[in-house]
Amino acid sequence: MALKIIDECISCDGCVEVCPTASIEVCDPIYVISAVTCCECVGYHKEPSCVKVCPVDAIIVDKDYFESESSLLEKYERSL
Ligand code: SF4
Ligand code: SF4
Repeated sequence: MALKIIDECISCDGCVEVCPTASIEVCDPIYVISAVTCCECVGYHKEPSCVKVCPVDAIIVDKDYFESESSLLEKYERSL
């Protein structure tokens, strides 16, 4: 998982509804992306769905956590 939700999150639920792997947990005060299951939408979409729908740009790349394409594809296959 190279994505994370930052403090700007307004808990609108938009990302939760579009996540194909159910990787976004409703938390207080901000939502949290599961590093275990998020595949960055690899295998599902060209771009991360959550990033596209977030109205306040609160989902960003976590530069401290990089995963290879093959690792993300493995997660995608596990999610099917
Ligand atoms: S990048 Fe895709 S799989 Fe990961 S949390 Fe966002 S919508 Fe879900
Ligand atoms: S779409 Fe953006 S603002 Fe809405 S819950 Fe997800 S991270 Fe928070």
